[in-house]
Amino acid sequence: MKAKESFTTLWRLIKIGRKYWLYYIIIFVVNLVYAAIYEGRALIIKPFFDDGFIEKNWEACFSAALILFSLALPLALLRYLKDYLQGYISFAILIHLRNRLCNHLLTLSMRFFNKEKSGDIMSRLTNDVMVAQNALHFVFGDWVEQPMKILIALGLAFYINWKLALGALILFPLFIYPITKLGRNIKKYKGESLVKLSDVTEAIHQMFSGIKIVKAFNRTDRENTEFERLNRGFLRKSLQVERRKAISGAILELFQAISMGLLLMIGGYLVAKSSTIPMTPGDFIAFAVVMISMYAPSRVLAKAYNYTMESTAGCERIFEFMDMKPDITDSPDAVPLDRIEKGIVIKNLDFSYETEPVLQNICLEAKHGEVVALVGPSGAGKTTLLDLLARFYDPLNGSIEIDGIDLRRIKKDSYMKHIAIVTQDPFLFNSTIRENILYGKEDATQDEIETATRAANIHEFIAGLESGYDTPAGERGTLMSGGQRQRIAIARALLKNPEILLLDEATSALDSESEKLVQEALANLMKGRTTFVIAHRISTIQHADKIVVLEQGRIIETGRHEELLQKDGLYAKLYRYQFGQNAGE
Ligand code: ADP
Repeated sequence: MKAKESFTTLWRLIKIGRKYWLYYIIIFVVNLVYAAIYEGRALIIKPFFDDGFIEKNWEACFSAALILFSLALPLALLRYLKDYLQGYISFAILIHLRNRLCNHLLTLSMRFFNKEKSGDIMSRLTNDVMVAQNALHFVFGDWVEQPMKILIALGLAFYINWKLALGALILFPLFIYPITKLGRNIKKYKGESLVKLSDVTEAIHQMFSGIKIVKAFNRTDRENTEFERLNRGFLRKSLQVERRKAISGAILELFQAISMGLLLMIGGYLVAKSSTIPMTPGDFIAFAVVMISMYAPSRVLAKAYNYTMESTAGCERIFEFMDMKPDITDSPDAVPLDRIEKGIVIKNLDFSYETEPVLQNICLEAKHGEVVALVGPSGAGKTTLLDLLARFYDPLNGSIEIDGIDLRRIKKDSYMKHIAIVTQDPFLFNSTIRENILYGKEDATQDEIETATRAANIHEFIAGLESGYDTPAGERGTLMSGGQRQRIAIARALLKNPEILLLDEATSALDSESEKLVQEALANLMKGRTTFVIAHRISTIQHADKIVVLEQGRIIETGRHEELLQKDGLYAKLYRYQFGQNAGE
């Protein structure tokens, strides 16, 4: 059953590379010709030995040697072709597989990315794909070459002496059973070792993305110890794999040594004594050579079997991700959304990440161009609501409608064009400032970029840098202050010129000068757009068209600033708290 699964996995891998079908055929033919010449050379042994060697006939010896000379170059050429094609195809499919996997992962929803560790995703895209490439290397190498060699050698053995060949054949199953059993275990342990390797990759990822915290809390020793522990786990599993590979090598060695002894004994007896199965010395030597050249490929094949089993463990981890269906997909009747005229209506929306309800019965309307501010204690569900508006998730019950059309019935690509998101701690890619801003609109001109950066209050800062717009934004944007990063993100959003804006407003983490610049930039960004803004400071949203107060996933108050103050509920309480705090500053 297990072997069948591995075979199915391999078959799937081969199918992934089906666009290379012509190479598959060429590889098959090249291997066939190579194996035929390689093994066929045994046919010259008998005339060389019986006619040349024993009869002391130099011409017969010389013509046998001549045949070998004439086959040398074709063999070398075929070997080159065979090896190169094998390398070519396994790398080509590896790249194709990695692209497909990455492509597929990008279509998966945020639920997937919340659940899977990024180290594990990275590990599957790098380590596991490399392991899968090993399988390909064997599939297009030893799995084609060795069986051909074995079959041709077997044919020759039967041709030379079929009775003896039959005897030798019976011995084969004796070692096939333990080898296949070991192979299955190898696959199991390799799978476990890849999980351990992904833990190591995840640890590296965590350690270096949180390097500041590691250093600030003086945890380098702890991190080191933990890293060593994870590495030891990987080592343990890897050694279990290696041990089984070594055992299977030892079994083969044992089998070969015993069978060679048997061959000499039986063959010697037949040449010296037998009249029922008579053999000439030349026949026997040729038979022995064929047997040797049959055992050698069997050994290689058994080894290849182990390695392939090992590699299918990696393939299966890749296919596990490939088989995950994106849960945010366009419905079959989805329509494109060219522009938004009326606005957004959220109807009786419920949502949960797992079982706990996170948003319950949310009803909310934002007319085109309105600013809706979301306020409430941490964990109330504000970010989740923005994520639903960005269609990172779909509602569990209820709906979000844009101009009266359910979001699930709008083509996702066309909807995403109308959206921009600016978060508190915006992400900048490790490329230049220009490229980061161009993420909003790939083909924007320098003038358009500058109009955006001026409105975002960041042009002067960028222009003042030595390399201007070509300055690297640094790994995750760490070369810039929080306020600068946020204004670059605002410029990026301005350039996209979206109809809907999802904002997670800057917190008091910014100094007041920087906050003023960011607030101005945000005001420019919000002009004329339907905006949902998570407000951390009530002072910045007093003019919002609608303020929505969330608590434990429910809307508990809605209204304008003055109305809510009059109500004297949670909003008024938060306002008084912040006002008092500001007054005390
Ligand atoms: P807010 O933005 O108001 O602070 P969130 O929307 O971030 O609130 O979180 C609302 C609730 O959902 C919290 O209880 C939080 O723990 C939970 N939550 C947020 N993100 C996830 C997630 N990816 N998986 C599971 N639970 C989550």
